[in-house]
Amino acid sequence: EDDGRVFNFAAGPATLPASVLKQAQEELYNWRGSGMSIMEMSHRGKEFTSIIQNAEASLRSLLKIPDDYAVLFLQGGATTQFASVPLNLCKPEDTADYIVSGSWSDKAFKEGQKYCTAKVVWSGKSNKYTDLPQPGELSLTPGARFLHICANETIHGVEFKDYPSPGGDTLLVADMSSNFCSKPVDVSKFALIYAGAQKNIGPSGVTIVIVRKDLLGNSQKITPVMLDYKIHADNNSLYNTPPCFGIYVCGLVFSDLLEKGGLRAAEQRNIEKAKLLYDAIDASNGFFKCPVKKEVRSLMNVPFTMETPDLEAAFLKEAAAGGMVQLKGHRSVGGIRASIYNAMPKAGVEKLVALMKSFQERHAS
Ligand code: PLP
Repeated sequence: EDDGRVFNFAAGPATLPASVLKQAQEELYNWRGSGMSIMEMSHRGKEFTSIIQNAEASLRSLLKIPDDYAVLFLQGGATTQFASVPLNLCKPEDTADYIVSGSWSDKAFKEGQKYCTAKVVWSGKSNKYTDLPQPGELSLTPGARFLHICANETIHGVEFKDYPSPGGDTLLVADMSSNFCSKPVDVSKFALIYAGAQKNIGPSGVTIVIVRKDLLGNSQKITPVMLDYKIHADNNSLYNTPPCFGIYVCGLVFSDLLEKGGLRAAEQRNIEKAKLLYDAIDASNGFFKCPVKKEVRSLMNVPFTMETPDLEAAFLKEAAAGGMVQLKGHRSVGGIRASIYNAMPKAGVEKLVALMKSFQERHAS
């Protein structure tokens, strides 16, 4: 890009739409004639009230969230939700089932163990988290309070295409941090969805929780007030000072997504970008390799390795010189990872693919 911006392939905090950043910049000093920055406003004043209400309305419209679900704008990141979910949905003696499909669902399970009888019902660990359970492969605990899944594993690059239906009274709970608002989702299949904002929808510091209202009000006695969904729902996410500026930016991103045709259109753009990249990897005769099974490859996070790992550093260096940054794989898995969230333009992926091809031509033995 000629305005000095790079193509940022970071897994999070990640790139945001240029138009949103520019609007936030324009409105930073004096928000729409209020004489104040959003950072300086009372969270109970009429200006911020309109900002948070509009953000919620846009999100409801994007995801077609049914009226019997509350939308909460919280803090603490998705990591806090690893505890909040069992604290709000379970008694300590209740069983909760976890599908462990990568590092994030493993962390959710480990935190969940502190607040309920958490059980791993499927693990992808022995396959290095390159696969997901087939529908018939799951054997869930009868009477489990909930089944927790990570809809998209940010580090390993596996993404659920269809969601398991736990059946009975078991609630389906999903961590959608890294694919939130990247495609349409039937919210009614889930009891609860949570997501940290900093991949697809805004700055870190905002965590979205979408929860069925009939589940509120049953938190464990030890639940800190800040982790109690009912407290936040009863107070429209204004029980204490919320992350005002972050919520405002999320609202801008939601409006931008609506203007660009909503989540079906976002999904089409994401499919197109991901296909470009996976096709390039698969067509490289093993020079580049994605370990993830094709059916469950993520549209958002594309991890890959090189046949000659010694060349990785040179590849990353050339990418950076070409304005493509943050492509180094997560420290736990190594290799390369291209995160191509909503705001990554197709041109960024095309540029990466062009470098992969030219790099291979110059280095293939
Ligand atoms: N879950 C997933 C899928 C993630 O990708 C991440 C973070 O990067 C987290 C949870 C943790 O989120 P946070 O850093 O907001 O606590």
